[in-house]
Amino acid sequence: MNTIVEEIKKRAEPSYWPKIEKAINFAIQAHKGQKRLTGEDYVRHPLRTALILSEFRFGPKTLSAAILHDVYEDTPITLETIEKNFGKDIRFLIEGVSNLSKLKYRGTERHVENLRKLFIVMAQDIRIILIKLADRLDNLNTLYALEPERAKRIAMETLEIYAPIAHRLGMGDLKGKLEDAAFAFAFPKEFEWIQNNFKDEYEEGKKYLERIKPSVKKELVKNGVIPLEIHARPKRYYSLYKKLQKYQMDITKIYDLVALRVVVKDIEQCYLTMAIVHKLWKPMIGRIKDYIALPKPNGYRSLHTTVFCVDGRITEFQIRTKQMHDEAEQGIAAHWQYSEKKGLKKYIPGPIKKELGWINQLRDWQRSFKQTSPDEFLESLKIDFFKDRIFVFTPKGDIVELPEDATPIDFSYHIHSDIGDHCTGAKVNGKLVNFNTRLKNGDIVEIMTNPKNQPSRDWLKFARTGLAKNRIKKFIRSSLEKKEKSKLEVLKQFSQKFIFEKIAPQIKKTEKIEKTGKIIISGEKNISHNLAKCCKPKKRDEIIGYITKTKGISIHKKDCKNAKLLKKKWPSKLINASWN
Ligand code: MN
Repeated sequence: MNTIVEEIKKRAEPSYWPKIEKAINFAIQAHKGQKRLTGEDYVRHPLRTALILSEFRFGPKTLSAAILHDVYEDTPITLETIEKNFGKDIRFLIEGVSNLSKLKYRGTERHVENLRKLFIVMAQDIRIILIKLADRLDNLNTLYALEPERAKRIAMETLEIYAPIAHRLGMGDLKGKLEDAAFAFAFPKEFEWIQNNFKDEYEEGKKYLERIKPSVKKELVKNGVIPLEIHARPKRYYSLYKKLQKYQMDITKIYDLVALRVVVKDIEQCYLTMAIVHKLWKPMIGRIKDYIALPKPNGYRSLHTTVFCVDGRITEFQIRTKQMHDEAEQGIAAHWQYSEKKGLKKYIPGPIKKELGWINQLRDWQRSFKQTSPDEFLESLKIDFFKDRIFVFTPKGDIVELPEDATPIDFSYHIHSDIGDHCTGAKVNGKLVNFNTRLKNGDIVEIMTNPKNQPSRDWLKFARTGLAKNRIKKFIRSSLEKKEKSKLEVLKQFSQKFIFEKIAPQIKKTEKIEKTGKIIISGEKNISHNLAKCCKPKKRDEIIGYITKTKGISIHKKDCKNAKLLKKKWPSKLINASWN
């Protein structure tokens, strides 16, 4: 434990140390006697989490929150106590980390991207994400102590959620570490296969690069480039596995198993280096990549080229400046360091403003690198654009993406139109709520249904999504049609039997019963009717039918006073009618 603490102290800014030390002592006290499943003292885990983060130059708040991140969840200490001892900000960070723990990948999610978005949305602060990533990385190293099934779930969650987020943030080193630590538990057979089959290639590749390094260096210097660093970069196992999958497991298609990385002073030297390499060795067609002029969506910059190198061996060169290198490894964290160094507007990581969101911070970050490819960047932005969206769970853990202000009515229609049509009530996080309740990120929503229940017109007031609104309207329309149809059935019987057998004899001669066929009543031609005496409708008059108690259907002009009166009193007895 002492060695971890010493390491943290070595890396921390001296002025931060008293605050960090206070957090360390607090955590040691709080976790006293607690053991991890591996048998070690519990506090070693949060300390190592802080150690991972201390590599990036975070302030004392982030480091303290990392040190204290499990105190709230795993000891009796409350958030209030934490706030009293360490202040509001650290409490906020710890609460955020604990909120994120509730988010679990179950392997059944249809839209993993939504889960990633939810992760970001729930985090609210980039520092919370980074603490969570470091927490996960350390937990991966002790996965062997867990039951295989649980270990596999955590490993898959890492590959599907955590590593892609690290990648989005441009943190290549953390992403690679997360992936490789998870790989063995997520896909044990494949991991073993890679290990057994590529060990020699890796070793051989490294040896070869070590052998040619001096001559590469000599050539560069001779041509006016002073490399700051040349090193062999072995491809990480998981990244190799993914690439092999793309190429039907054909190893001969992998040219960058071990690449030679050349770090130089500035961008001019990058291009000069590439020119020298191309002069010495023939480049492969289609393998020259200028990620300096056209950075990758996550901000990655470098020149890549593959050449037929010494002894004709195909070799990839990755050429970059020191800043590009740090950014590729540390991503968003490197940005803070560089903006500080340059004396630019200091980037202080803080709560993500709701309307801005992390993606805008990322955009600022990218802008500060003077990126020249807005299209490509916008492409990547689209995936992450979730302003005005919320993400809620079904009780089974599926995620439903809805617009902000969505209600349980929207939720139920997004699950299934039947659920929507028959919903009788809703629970949010286990509590009964009204249909007009606004859902929030991370809410677990449960809908109660009854097959007899039907949508009501009121629901339109609560529905925010077009889908729900359309379904409700459709239902109302079809139920009106049904009513109309059943009216018609009654009418048919009424008109055929009743009118001719019982009513007809009573009708005065002047009210002669019209032959059927002239007037269409509710879409039917063969319904008997009489023309009202009061308004005497004639052909081309707009007309309407009224179901009388004793005389069958009377046809009135639509603007007839009596018809209007009847409409007011017995609207359900009116029926559509028109001249044939
Ligand atoms: Mn933890």
